[in-house]
Amino acid sequence: MNFASDNVYGIHPKILAAIEAANQGTTPSYGYDDYSKRAEDKLSEVFEKEVRAFLVTTGTAANGLALSALTPSYGAVFTHNEAHSAIDECNSPEMFTGGAKIIGLEGVEGKLTPPIIEKVLKGFLRGEHDPKPAALSITNSTELGRVYKPDEIKALSTVAKSRKMKFHTDGARFANAVAALGVKPADITWKAGIDVMSFGGTKNGGMLLEAVVFFDTALAEDFLYRRMRGGQLISKSRFLGTQMLAYLEGGLWLDNARIANGLAQRLAKGLLQSNRIRIPLPVEANEIFAVMPLALHDKLLAAGAHFHQWGLDILGRDGIAEDEVFCRFVLSFATPEADVDRFLSLVKQG
Ligand SMILES: *Cc1c(COP(=O)(O)O)cnc(C)c1O
Repeated sequence: MNFASDNVYGIHPKILAAIEAANQGTTPSYGYDDYSKRAEDKLSEVFEKEVRAFLVTTGTAANGLALSALTPSYGAVFTHNEAHSAIDECNSPEMFTGGAKIIGLEGVEGKLTPPIIEKVLKGFLRGEHDPKPAALSITNSTELGRVYKPDEIKALSTVAKSRKMKFHTDGARFANAVAALGVKPADITWKAGIDVMSFGGTKNGGMLLEAVVFFDTALAEDFLYRRMRGGQLISKSRFLGTQMLAYLEGGLWLDNARIANGLAQRLAKGLLQSNRIRIPLPVEANEIFAVMPLALHDKLLAAGAHFHQWGLDILGRDGIAEDEVFCRFVLSFATPEADVDRFLSLVKQG
């Protein structure tokens, strides 16, 4: 019963088979192989727009490199205070951007809104005494399991563009957002004003499956240099390209995300029915945040379940009693349904 993260599971068999299949003969290296080229073409097809796509090995590298193409070293990048780029990447975006300031903002129920951005921008009117507002970055689906809808993204884009800021989206769990909303990938990216995205697939079935995708292709001009300097141009690049092709082929990426999202709904419903657990944020993708009695938490761990306690920032201390804990559950395409049901029966028993 492992709900610690979606990266605790392995590689989807179809992606592993694609790695094996690509392990034949010789190909050009350093991104000039046919797999990498076809992966970029396939991403253009999926997004219904000619994109530039650069394969990298981690989501952290994708975020830092993407942001480095959007901000000068003296710029500011606004994001949610729970964003991976703000708190989970050990200043990697600051390093890749050469010193830009990543500013985490408090959201409303796990999301940023136009008034939040407008308010903070009012504090950035002193010219060169402040860093230059350069980019806005949102995560979809978010670190708190929420999803941004097309209109919400468009509204944020309008604010960003009014200050000539670029707009980035961290899509480590992008498939879960697309599957949850039932929209087309274009609807929550370039059609809503996103200029560049970190497109993640590792958590949803890949081994090393991340790409920086430019919808505004002019911004990709020097990206080959950035990726190389960042140590993210891998020589046997075919093994990244083949993963991306298998991930997108036949909609595997969305099938996987639908399974994970469906399991999250199943788990959330059962937790609520138990009447012993509160779920303060809507469950929209593949993550659940829940408040439970500490005694129950300890019992579940002792029974072999894995899940993490989470920071209280979004809940505030008032939202939780002394003898309660706040926890996160993440579901994967590979989470056995039987594990969800077994966990729920343990919760019921108390
Ligand atoms: C996991 C994750 C990443 C990337 O993580 P890596 O461990 O560097 O691959 C980026 N953003 C979000 C929101 C994530 O959840």
